[in-house]
This record gives sequence, C-alpha cells and structure tokens, in this order.
Amino acid sequence: MGQNGKSVILIVDDSMLNIMMLTRILSADYVLLTATSGEAALSLALKQIPDLILLDVIMPGMDGFEVLTELKRNPETMNIPVIFITGADNEEDEERGFLLGAVDYITKPFKNVIVKVRVNTHMKIVSQLRMNERLGMIDPLTGIHNRRSFDHSFEAEWGRAVREKTPISFLMLDIDHFKKYNDAFGHLQGDELLKAAAAIFVAVVKRPTDLAARLGGEEFGILLPGAGPQGALAVAEEVRKAVEALQVPTIDGKQQTTATVSIGVASISPVHSDSPTELLSRADDCLYAAKESGRNKVIGGELK
Ligand code: GH3
Ligand code: MG
Ligand code: MG
Repeated sequence: MGQNGKSVILIVDDSMLNIMMLTRILSADYVLLTATSGEAALSLALKQIPDLILLDVIMPGMDGFEVLTELKRNPETMNIPVIFITGADNEEDEERGFLLGAVDYITKPFKNVIVKVRVNTHMKIVSQLRMNERLGMIDPLTGIHNRRSFDHSFEAEWGRAVREKTPISFLMLDIDHFKKYNDAFGHLQGDELLKAAAAIFVAVVKRPTDLAARLGGEEFGILLPGAGPQGALAVAEEVRKAVEALQVPTIDGKQQTTATVSIGVASISPVHSDSPTELLSRADDCLYAAKESGRNKVIGGELK
C-alpha cells in the first residue's frame, strides 16, 4: 500500500511515451512507480514491493521474460502479480508470459478502458487474497491470532532466538472454571468473556514482536520474544491482575466470585539442539501447577 491507502503499481517500459500514457490512465487511482529497464525494475521491486507490476516484454538489456523469471525466483517478489505489455496480436509472447507466471496481458496501443479494467480486476484479486490470508490467521471469535498464526510466528521467533542468542518466553493461559461460567450464563455469554480476555491479553503485550493468540477453546498463549524469566513473570502477573480487575461476575459452586485466569510461564535462551515444543509443554506443566494450587495464579519455570 502507498500513501492514502492506495495500491502501488510498478510500470516497467523502456519507452517514456508508453510510461506517460499508462501514467495518464492510472495515476488517479494508484500510486505509480516507474522503471525504464529490467534491471532498474528488479531493484525497485525489491525496495518497494509493489502490489502489481506492468511489464513490457521487449526491452533492451533484460527483456520482460527475464525480469519475470527473476521476480519468480525471489520469495519476496514471487507473489506480486505481473501483467505483460505486448504488441498487438503477439500471441506467442502472451503464451510464453502465462507459462512464466504472468496473470494477464495488455496490448499496445493502449485502450484506456481495457487497461483500467484489467488492472482493477487484478487489484481486487490481490486484496481478496490478502484478506483471506489474514482471515486464515485470525480467530474469528476474538479477532486475535489463531493457532496457525501462533505456530507460524513461534517457529520464526524461535529461530531468531537461537541465531541471536536471545531469550524467549511463553505464557500459557487458561480461564478458570470456564465450564461453570458457561453452565451458569450460557455459551454466548461465555464467548463474551473469551473476547474480553483476549482484548486484555492484546492490550498487555507491548513490544511489536509480542504475540497473543487463542490456541483453542478457552486456552490462550502469549509469546514474548526477547523476554527472560523475570520479564515474562511480570507480564503474566500483569495479565492475571487485569483479568481479575475486569470483575466479571461468575459462580463457583454456590459462591459468587469473579472470573480469573491461571498462567504457566516458561522461558529459555535456546540453542540449536533445544526443542521448541519443550518450551510449550513446560508452560503447560506450570499452568497445571497453577490450577492445582488454587487457580488465579502465575507459576513460572526456567528450562535452564
Ligand atoms: P479449569 O479451571 O480447570 O480450566 O476449568 P475449566 O472449566 O475452565 O476447564 P475445562 O477444560 O473443564 O472446560 C473448558 C470449557 O470451555 C468447556 C468448553 O465447553 C468451554 N469452551 C471451549 N471453547 C469454547 C468457546 O468457544 N466458547 C465457549 N463459550 N465455551 C467454550
Ligand atoms: Mg479453563
Ligand atoms: Mg481447559
């Protein structure tokens, strides 16, 4: 995305005249970047990652096919849709473009409406794909990251902690006596409590790499890259207190009380041979201990 939320298009054409014509057609709706050679296009695409590329086939130096091949080779640019610009009735070029992974083509001389419609169509597809991707990572009830998203981030952050020799901590959280809450107030009200708890978890974690996720049912996880045991315990205690402070009324047996959460905390400065699942199961053990020792508790343990 460019300024004002507009999508960004990179136009690649060795002819300034073509660039000017396309600019006239598209500049009202999109932020435009331009390059007059394949080489310049590749370095610009890596720097700015456009939402779409319009790519001339015939250029001196690297031609459009070579540029597309390079774009597809790099994981950072391989998913950018590319529309080829071909001469009229050059079906061979069109076919070769599709085989290399172009999504569409437009022919010269440009017709305003055709250019606009093709570009708009592919932009819509891009934004739908992005939305689906996002939705695939978000828990629909609470709007926070889901298990899949957590697994994805955990793998990346674990790798980073090993490489950079930094600590990483994990909080396993579980709402206390949630079954009783559901039984007393109904499943829908239970869902509301899950939403409120999730909102607190997100509000308490502060660093950009911190991640709160719903791992399933009424179980949540908070990943704290860079945090050692003391920092992690402090965050956990903050979360526990914040949930208690919500003062959500519930019933424990016949007794009126408020909803609480139990938290297991595990920290490690991992080396290559360590297992990431051990961090999770260690936090799970601590959570179990927190439940056993009366709930509304934080229990932590360092792996080493
Ligand atoms: P504990 O303090 O030991 O954690 O007791 P608990 O009752 O919270 O734990 P238990 O695992 O026995 O029960 C979890 C309950 O969470 C049972 C299940 O019906 C409920 N639950 C799981 N997912 C959802 C959900 O999406 N919405 C609602 N409302 N309830 C859910
Ligand atoms: Mg529970
Ligand atoms: Mg449970």
